[in-house]
Amino acid sequence: MKIDLRSDTVTKPSKEMLDAMYLAPVGDDVFEEDPTVIELENTSANIFGKEAGIFCPSGTMSNQIAIRLHTQPGSEVVCDKLSHIYNYEGGGIAVNSLSSVKLLAGAGGRFTADDVLKSIQPDDIHAPITSLVSIENTSNKGGGCCYDLKEIEKIAAVCKDKNLPLHLDGARIFNALIAKNESGTEHGKHLDTISICLSKGLGAPIGSVLLGSKEHIHKARRIRKVLGGGMRQVGGIAAAGLYALKNNVDRIVEDHNRAKELANVLKTCSFVKGLLPVETNILVFDLNDDVKQVDFLQKLKEKEILAVGFGPQRVRFVTHLDFEDSQMDKLTRVLKEY
Ligand SMILES: *Cc1c(COP(=O)(O)O)cnc(C)c1O
Repeated sequence: MKIDLRSDTVTKPSKEMLDAMYLAPVGDDVFEEDPTVIELENTSANIFGKEAGIFCPSGTMSNQIAIRLHTQPGSEVVCDKLSHIYNYEGGGIAVNSLSSVKLLAGAGGRFTADDVLKSIQPDDIHAPITSLVSIENTSNKGGGCCYDLKEIEKIAAVCKDKNLPLHLDGARIFNALIAKNESGTEHGKHLDTISICLSKGLGAPIGSVLLGSKEHIHKARRIRKVLGGGMRQVGGIAAAGLYALKNNVDRIVEDHNRAKELANVLKTCSFVKGLLPVETNILVFDLNDDVKQVDFLQKLKEKEILAVGFGPQRVRFVTHLDFEDSQMDKLTRVLKEY
């Protein structure tokens, strides 16, 4: 029995999802004539109370489009030092937007409104122009922790006051909404643009949607084309995303419950030095000094259990919809016997 906890991106489409993909009506999306893509964009926008959406092949592309759309060359993007847009998008802020970053040292990837206020550059020709604030919810490197909605409200107020747009990297926003029992519209009203991922906890094979005002999304279509992301009869893959939004959101709670159970197991394991608080589907833990990370990962691999290193001595497990109770039982046994 193989167990893959490297990421929640490893899920395979179910029979029902594949049926939905097969049956989807399609058209040329560059002409905005693919009915399934349009339905996915509108459905996603409605969940967050935004006017419009644009389907993108990856979360990286939808984040990068948002950054390009809100910045100008020589800008500075305010983000956390743990953020995906800074660490895991190939330096895209520099490449695609000719901009730099102001890195904040938040708690578990979450900074405060006060941090934002202090980070804004003065109107001085020596300084880059602060152009965008970007938050990540849940925070991947922060161990899947969630923002407090009140803090988002405060950050949005600072942004509004300083005339700065606020972007959300919401690759796992549905995990946050389920964990906190909050709605997309409660979050959406504070955010100018939102990038959501369909291929993480929701279990679709591909896709992300960037959400915002009609004006922002109109501009985004041009940027997506420039980046080579204009797609044609992609209703088939949009259908997987639509299926995921309709069927795979509420069940995320199961992933969270399994992650909490796993956390309880890890806390009893002698090889664990420490574990970040588990709020959603990500577990990040540090190994004791006498257990080498490579050896630990190799031993798990021999038992057909896959996980990834997440820094020196640090390991990440991510639960997802293809991780079921029988696998949970095996993993628990292996960890307890380690
Ligand atoms: C996965 C992820 C993305 C987007 O990644 P893609 O693989 O390009 O879809 C963006 N932000 C966070 C926090 C992520 O975990």
